[in-house]
Amino acid sequence: MARRHGIPRRIVGFHRDEAGDWVAELECGHGQHVRHDPPWRNRPWAETEEGRRGKLGARLRCRRCLEEGEDRPAAGALRRVNRS
Ligand SMILES: [Zn+2]
Repeated sequence: MARRHGIPRRIVGFHRDEAGDWVAELECGHGQHVRHDPPWRNRPWAETEEGRRGKLGARLRCRRCLEEGEDRPAAGALRRVNRS
C-alpha cells in the first residue's frame, strides 16, 4: 500500500535542529529532516534559502503520522474482517 512510507503532509516551514541539520515543518505539526546526503538523500534544494522556499507547500510523507496511527483502520475493524 502506498501509505506504508508515510502520510503526505504539506511543508509549512523549516528550522535547524541542534546539529544544524534542516528540518521541514509539516502541516500536521511533525518535523522531518531534509538532509542533503548524497547518494542516499539527494536534496540540494535543502542547502539554500531559495531552494527551501520553493518547497513550501510541497508534500513529504510523514512517517510519524503513520506510526501514530492516524488514518489507520481501528483495531476493531481489522478484527471484524478476519472473522468473516
Ligand atoms: Zn505528521
